[in-house]
Amino acid sequence: MSSVRVPFVDLAAEYTSIRVEIDEAVGAVLRKGWYILGAQVAAFEREFAAFCGVEHGVGVASGTDAIHLAIRACGITAGDEVVTVANVSAPTVCAIVAAGARPRFADVRSDTMTMDPRRVDDLLRGDSSHRIKAIVPVHLYGHPAEIDRIVELARGHGAAVIEDACQAHGTTYNGRHVGSFGDAGCFSFYPTKNLGAYGDGGLVVCRDGAIAERVRMLRCYGEASKYKNLTYGINSRLDELQAAILRVKLRHLTSWNERRRSLAARYMAGLAGAGVETPVEAAGAFHTYHLYVVRSSRREALQAALRERGIGTSVHYPIPIHFQDAYRDLGYSAGDLPQTEACCAEVLSLPISTAMPPESVDIVCDAIRAFGNG
Ligand SMILES: *Cc1c(COP(=O)(O)O)cnc(C)c1O
Repeated sequence: MSSVRVPFVDLAAEYTSIRVEIDEAVGAVLRKGWYILGAQVAAFEREFAAFCGVEHGVGVASGTDAIHLAIRACGITAGDEVVTVANVSAPTVCAIVAAGARPRFADVRSDTMTMDPRRVDDLLRGDSSHRIKAIVPVHLYGHPAEIDRIVELARGHGAAVIEDACQAHGTTYNGRHVGSFGDAGCFSFYPTKNLGAYGDGGLVVCRDGAIAERVRMLRCYGEASKYKNLTYGINSRLDELQAAILRVKLRHLTSWNERRRSLAARYMAGLAGAGVETPVEAAGAFHTYHLYVVRSSRREALQAALRERGIGTSVHYPIPIHFQDAYRDLGYSAGDLPQTEACCAEVLSLPISTAMPPESVDIVCDAIRAFGNG
């Protein structure tokens, strides 16, 4: 195999570009000697909630925990059903199961690959015994789901909406930040995300102070105050070091998202007529390109050809959740979610990251053209 010419993502290069600010912020936390639930976490919670245009933010240990605890905070309990999508990796579904609920899947739109409100409507119409208590749309790859329509459908059924915005920091829909539409919005700060920590981290944003309070309780053993337990909880906290790092990085997020958008525009121009389907940005959507995902009916061969030329790619995600062994007992089979299954067979994520030089996009586009003509 040839050496790497275009890495799929380069996090060390991003760190280098902000090293002085990061080192100062980390040093200040270490010198102070307070590491869990302190001033940095409180400040980051305020700053990130304000960035999203909502009142409350609660830091937790991961995006998965953000979804899990938000679902519980919205009152969903054992035996309830929660609708999400299946063209994702496991965390969204793990969070639903951790909350004691049963996942159900709505198929996705073929263009944006996000939750199709028409399929949500079908599921809600079929739910005469009102088992469906929440909808968890995923703002996939940085593109918003049709969240206004989904919220409207959920309200009509008395179901909560918990947004999985783990891939969508800064994404907006009709000018409003995702995470601010539903009862709660959930973010992950896994290192590769558009806003990434140098470890794990997550956060729940919401407008309702009572939901925020419940998440605060649940993230800390179910304590309403020190040693006073109102419910059973878990240990799921964002730490001071990660919060300090995230506060620095939040100041760069808007310009980093613009960088991603300009790399995406360069891909779009460079891939015209190259034999792959490029991502769409729907009306009203502001896409932040957490991932730049093309579709090809010859995905495996294309990925191998790019690897030969030293170009790193990835597949998000090759196996839909309803095909996974862990979720066999949910009773789905092949053909149940046709658009989801087609996506998983065709998607290919091309390199995109904040430190990627624009010329690298041209290298990738040339390689894809060469493959198309081969
Ligand atoms: C990353 C991600 C999560 C989970 O986040 P973690 O911080 O890794 O737990 C959930 N949903 C989606 C769509 C994600 O991309």
